[in-house]
Amino acid sequence: MSEHFETNAIRNQNERSQFSEHSTPLYLTSSFVFDDAEDMRASFAEEKERNLYSRFTNPNTTEFVNKIVEMEGAEAGYAFATGMAAIFTSFAALLKAGDHIVSCSSVFGSTHAMFTKFLPKWNIETTYFKVDEVDLVESLIQENTKILYIETPTNPAVDILDLELLGKIAKKHHLIYIVDNCFATPYVQQPIKFGADLVIHSATKLIDGQGRVLGGITVGNKELMHEIYLFARNTGPAMSPFNAWILSKSLETLAIRVEKHAENAQKVAEFLEQHSSVKMVKYPFLKSHPQYEIAKKQMKLGGNIVAFEIKGGIDAGRTFLNNIKMCSLSANLGDTRTIVTHPSSTTHSKLSEKDRLEVGITDGLVRVSVGLENVADIIADIEQALAFNA
Ligand SMILES: *Cc1c(COP(=O)(O)O)cnc(C)c1O
Repeated sequence: MSEHFETNAIRNQNERSQFSEHSTPLYLTSSFVFDDAEDMRASFAEEKERNLYSRFTNPNTTEFVNKIVEMEGAEAGYAFATGMAAIFTSFAALLKAGDHIVSCSSVFGSTHAMFTKFLPKWNIETTYFKVDEVDLVESLIQENTKILYIETPTNPAVDILDLELLGKIAKKHHLIYIVDNCFATPYVQQPIKFGADLVIHSATKLIDGQGRVLGGITVGNKELMHEIYLFARNTGPAMSPFNAWILSKSLETLAIRVEKHAENAQKVAEFLEQHSSVKMVKYPFLKSHPQYEIAKKQMKLGGNIVAFEIKGGIDAGRTFLNNIKMCSLSANLGDTRTIVTHPSSTTHSKLSEKDRLEVGITDGLVRVSVGLENVADIIADIEQALAFNA
């Protein structure tokens, strides 16, 4: 292994087969064969590391997992069909009825739904803290608290939580510290360095980066990952070999893509900051960001998500979206294509206004996932869409 991220992302691949291929082939096989009865027994007893059945492992998912494990500085990992399968399975494997979670209130919409609607069915409750209430976290920890869960940067408000500070709290109280690192990617930030036990990704976003396939992954501590692996291999949320093959190739270009995404996003953020129709802009590497110092401490780049508040509230937000010509109106993010969304009238419309404001979603908030088009074209589209509001 090299000390350089890009080299490992490209060179950390499966061994060549007898065909001496240069690029890892796709292994579309549901099962694998054994030499004899003893080989089969030892394999099922986990005495050997080898492929048995593609619900457990497959050469393509293994290559993808090995790359992310290395990038995140983890010990082990498991790949899932989606980001939500990674999150749900990790909780289901590690928690039992009566356990408790402390989580940041700004988490991905479906994660929020899992905490508030579904985990309570098994008597697992979650207590939330707001991004500006980190000093309250210790007071929320109960006798039965098992997990401290966060995302940083948060969606869609692009707030930053102090990974190191929360890592210390988790360690002091013997909590499993889980970080959804989807917005940053392992190129920008490695939560394990700051004490995370498990790191989760929706690979659907910047890891694929081209809006093609769904995927998820959990990596981290060996013992915890073994529990998750045993649970997953029996309950069936595995990533398909095809998606793993796509995603492993995507990782080869992660560094260069994320560099360009962040360069474009910085320019879009700086453009918005001086625009008269814009009330507020949030991007981690803008000096005006409330947690700029923390972002600089834990992130290599500012990422590709820019949030801004348009003057004129909900109607102005909707008009802005209707005026957009080139950028896409879509629910995804981290694509080569720039995507704009208006959370208060779409992804977060089911929340009450009070709940929306608690997680920083004002009526005029617009989220931009800055893509890889020429940045002059991205800015020109945003500029003409804002012109009505001058
Ligand atoms: C998209 C997303 C998820 C869920 O991932 P899927 O692959 O869509 O299931 C989880 N967390 C964050 C931060 C996301 O952006």
